[in-house]
Parts: sequence; C-alpha cells; structure tokens
Amino acid sequence: MTIVPHPFDALMEITVRPPAVFVRGDGSWLWDDAGKRYLDFIQGWAVNCLGHSPPVIAEALNQQAKLLLTPSPAFYNAPSLELAKALVDHSCFDRVFFANSGAEANEGAIKLARKYGALHRDGAYQIITFDGAFHGRTLATMSASGKKAFEPLFEPKVPGFPKAKLNDIASVKALINDTTVAVMLEPIQGEAGVWPATDEFLRELRTLTAEHGLLLIFDEIQTGFGRTGKLFHYENAGIEPDIMTLGKGIGGGVPLAALLATEAASCFQPGDQGGTFNGNPLMCAVGLAVLGQIGMPHFLKSVAGTGLFLASELQRISARHGLGEVRGRGLLLALDLKRPIAAAIVAQAMEAGLLLNAPQADALRFMPALNVTRDEIIEMTDGLDAILTKMGVARCVA
Ligand code: PLP
Repeated sequence: MTIVPHPFDALMEITVRPPAVFVRGDGSWLWDDAGKRYLDFIQGWAVNCLGHSPPVIAEALNQQAKLLLTPSPAFYNAPSLELAKALVDHSCFDRVFFANSGAEANEGAIKLARKYGALHRDGAYQIITFDGAFHGRTLATMSASGKKAFEPLFEPKVPGFPKAKLNDIASVKALINDTTVAVMLEPIQGEAGVWPATDEFLRELRTLTAEHGLLLIFDEIQTGFGRTGKLFHYENAGIEPDIMTLGKGIGGGVPLAALLATEAASCFQPGDQGGTFNGNPLMCAVGLAVLGQIGMPHFLKSVAGTGLFLASELQRISARHGLGEVRGRGLLLALDLKRPIAAAIVAQAMEAGLLLNAPQADALRFMPALNVTRDEIIEMTDGLDAILTKMGVARCVA
C-alpha cells in the first residue's frame, strides 16, 4: 500500500495528537493509514456506543440522506418528532430540545434554568456545580466546570456557578441562597478521572433541591444511553431529575445531543433557544437507530454484565501489579495507578496497537463500545498486563 503523506500544518493545534491518521473503523477496531490495527477502548471518548461504523448507523444515514437532510429548524420533521417521543417514553421527562454537541445541550440547560429563575424564582440565576466537574467548552459550560486547568483561561468567566464538593451534601447546603436556581452535576465525573457520586448523595440532592424549590440538572452526556447499564444513570439512584442532558452515545458517532426537561421545567418561549442544525432529520434518524439497539431488553443487561467482567479483569491486573482501586459503573471505569504513569502507559499501549485514555496523570479510563466482547476485553487486559510488566511497575510498589 502506498502511503500518501498527510499535511499536518493546516489544522489549529488544540491538543497534542499522535502522528497516526485513522482511516477506518469496525466495531472495537480502528486502522490507521499505514494499515496498523488498534483495539479501541476510547471509542471517540465514550461516543461510539455500538462500536465503529455499525451497519445500523450506516443504513440510517443512507436511508435518511436520500429522503431529507435539513428542512429548517423552524419546521417540524418526522425523525426529530419520533426521536423526541421515544426519549420521552423511555425517561421521566416530557420535552426535548436537540443540540449538536454536549456543551451546547448543557448551555441550553443553563439557559433553561436561568429562564426558570426569571419566571418563577424572582430572578434567581446561580447554578451550584462541583469541583472537578466537566460540562463542556463553551464559555458558560467552562465556567460551570470545576476543572483546575480551565481556571486561568478566557477570563472573565460567566458568573453564577459556585462550586460544591461531590458527595458532600453540607457543601451544597452552604451555597444555597436566594439567588440559587439549580444544582447541576455529572452523576459520574468522567474527565476528572471517573469519580462517581454515590446513589445516597444523589438521593440527598434530590431531597434538598425539592425542599428549596431548586431544579436538579443531570449532565448524562457521558453516563447516559446505556453506559452504566441503565438507559440513564439517574435510574440507578431511583430518583428523577428535572433536567437532563445527553450527548456522545445518543448519536453513536455522529454529532447529536439533547436537552430533556419535565413539563414544569420546560419554560423556553419562542425566540429563547434555537440553532440552524438543531433536530435535523439526518442526525435524529441515527439517534432513533441507536436507541432501537440500546433500548432492546437484553442489551442493557449485557452492558451491566460486561461491565462487571471488565471490572474484575482490571482488579486482577491491579492486584498483580500493586495498583489501586477500580471505580465507576457499567462500561465507564477507571483504574487508579497510584503514581503518575498514565501517559507513559497510553504511549506504550498505542505502540502495541491498543488505544487507552488517561484522564488524569495517575488514572486510566476505560469506555469501550457497549457491545465490546469478553475476548476483546481479555485481549486489552493481556496487552495492559504486558506493558505494566515491561515497565516494571510492580517492582516500584513501596
Ligand atoms: N459533559 C460531560 C459530562 C462530558 O463528558 C462532555 C465531553 O466530554 C461534555 C459535557 C461536552 O460534550 P461535547 O464535547 O460534545 O461538547
């Protein structure tokens, strides 16, 4: 095969990328332009819930592309109506606004909460968010995030996002005042290194927000659409938020996101919210196809089972190499390395044809396709085991 060199100097450098150029994907596997094959446990950052290029998405795109791409967001189209109805039927929410990215869905949630405050809470606008949170890269969602690296960037930030501590209800209570309208969180903090809110904390938050008449907003962009073994993570805690955002998995690899709200919280009026591509039929047709697969009775059960298998394999590796805890839920897991070697492992794994993610210097995050097989999990843990052995990690345990 002749390799045509790619020019690397036309893209803005927004992150440090390895030199591989990816050209094809199939299930849990990716190929670069030199023909090298990689086992992918990143999957576009928990995006490709059905793996790379599943036929069901190719088929939905093909069918819909021949019918209608974008009439206008100011007209109804059939796929967006059908997908909104399906999401409402599968959840505790009544209304849906479609977006093109997770950050845009969260921006919509923030606007909806502020509108609610203007209408029902005497202009209250503050949204309590959490240290370590990640809600996106628009200015408001960066301001809502509690990521240390964001702090010096793009000042001044959007005001109104006081930060509480995850799993510390007293820290939330201490921030509530007359200007508070909502509490917003990721039920598992993904980018921070997969730190779960406990089910008990989520229930306490529901009680506290209800007592104060505040909205509870779940950012399920990473946890939603089956990732934790339920269609939506809030089901694990047995509570119902007022607002939820979805992204990543809902499109299975295409740009689709959604903002869902109860009837009581759905207070946008004409002119408040919109966007040229929002709810376009091409992406919504994909969302319907993805939900058709994920929503099948056996599918979520199998995610929960595969998640337990992955966790037990990671625990075995951890014990063998003297590493730390395995945390998370379903197929969103982290392995605590107890020392800052994550970047070195990721680099060696890539060499060996294994794609892993290091959200923090001392943690690896695993977010494979939801239909990853046990054989693929064993292949990944065997590869990781070999890298850790080569690095002599067990020998440096104190
Ligand atoms: N919220 C959470 C919890 C996320 O994990 C992400 C992306 O990683 C976002 C929001 C932002 O989504 P997007 O990158 O699609 O804007």
